[in-house]
Amino acid sequence: MINVTKTYLPNVEKYKSYVDKIFSSGWLTNNGHMVQELERRLSEYLGVKNLLLVSNGTLALQIAYKILDLRGDVLTTPFTFVATTSSLVWEGLTPVFVDIDPNTFNMDPEKIAGKITKNTSAIVPVHVFGNACEVERIQETANEYNLKVIYDAAHAFGVKYKDQSIANYGDIATFSFHSTKVFHTIEGGALVIKDDDLFKRAKLKINFGIPGPDMVTDLGINCKMNEFQAAMGLCVLEDMDLILSHRKKIYKKYCGAFQGNSHIKLQKINSEASQNYSYFPVVLDSESVLLNVRYALNKEDIFPRRYFYPSLEELPYVQENQPAHVSNDISKRILCLPIYENLEEDMQDKIIEIVREASRGTEQI
Ligand SMILES: *Cc1c(COP(=O)(O)O)cnc(C)c1O
Repeated sequence: MINVTKTYLPNVEKYKSYVDKIFSSGWLTNNGHMVQELERRLSEYLGVKNLLLVSNGTLALQIAYKILDLRGDVLTTPFTFVATTSSLVWEGLTPVFVDIDPNTFNMDPEKIAGKITKNTSAIVPVHVFGNACEVERIQETANEYNLKVIYDAAHAFGVKYKDQSIANYGDIATFSFHSTKVFHTIEGGALVIKDDDLFKRAKLKINFGIPGPDMVTDLGINCKMNEFQAAMGLCVLEDMDLILSHRKKIYKKYCGAFQGNSHIKLQKINSEASQNYSYFPVVLDSESVLLNVRYALNKEDIFPRRYFYPSLEELPYVQENQPAHVSNDISKRILCLPIYENLEEDMQDKIIEIVREASRGTEQI
C-alpha cells in the first residue's frame, strides 16, 4: 500500500544508542539533555535564534497566540490543515478568512487589508506545502495596521526566503514535527520567537508557568517535548541531506511529467524562496475528475490525499457567511500525490501514468 507519505525511520541501532543514554541517565523529560541538544542543533541548522521545542505543532500555535495576548479577530487562510483554525477557536479567537491566491495556494496578500477591522489583532498565514508566503508584503500590511504576524510554518521546515530561514519572518513562526512532516520527532513542534522576553515567557508557559522549585509565576500548560522524541529528532536531522535530495529527485520527476499538461495544474512556487519538496499537489479540472483519479489510484493500492479538503470556511464551528471562492474551488480539485524519501522509481512511473490517463476527464470513464 502506497500512501501520500511514509514516515522516515532512521537507523534503528542509532536510535537505540540514544535510548541507552536516556536509560542510563534516568532523565526522560523536563528539558533534558537531548531536548537541549536538539534545540541547539536545530537553531544552527535552520539559522534561527530563540527556538523552543514543544510536544506538537498545534500547541506551538496555541502558545504563540497566548504569549502575544491576541484578542478578537485573527485573519487566517481557509486553505490549510484544520489545526491552524481550530487552535484559534480553541483559544477563544475568531478566525476571519482571507481567500487564497489561485496559483500559490497561499493567503492572497491583496485581500488582507480589506478584511481588517478594529477587532483584528493578528494575521496567521501558512506557507502552504512549504511554499513561502509573500512575507515582505504581509509584514508591510501588518505594520500599517499594527498587527502581529504568526506564521504556521508546519510545512516549511528548512525553507529559506532570500537566503535566511523562513522562520525569521513574522513575530513568531511555528513548526510541526509530526511523523508525516519532512522532519519529525514522532510527535513534536517548535516555536521560533523574535522577541527575547516573549521567548522567556513561552519557556515558562510550556511548563505550567513554573520557573523553579516552590514557584508558580505565570498561567501555564504542559507541552514539553520528551527525550525519546528529541532522540528521534537528532537521528532524523543527521539524515536530512539525504532525505531532501531523494525528495527533490521525486519532486522534479513529477514536475517534468506534468508540466505543460493542460489538465494538471501545479503550484506556483515563490521565486525568492527555496523548497523542501514536502508535498506534491496537483489541481485537476473538476471534483469529478479528482474522484476518478483517486479511484484509479486506489484500485492499484495507491492512496493520495485530498489536502486540503474541505475548505475551512465550511467548518461547523466558524462564523458563517465567509465566502472564500478560490479556496473552496481549489480544495475540491486538489490532490497530493505520494512523495517520500524512498518512493520507488517504478512506483512513481505508475502513479504518473495513472494520473495522466485519469485526469483527461470524461473520455476515460
Ligand atoms: C501538521 C500541521 C499542524 C499541526 O501540527 P501537529 O504537530 O500535528 O499538531 C498545523 N498546521 C499545519 C499547516 C499542519 O500541516
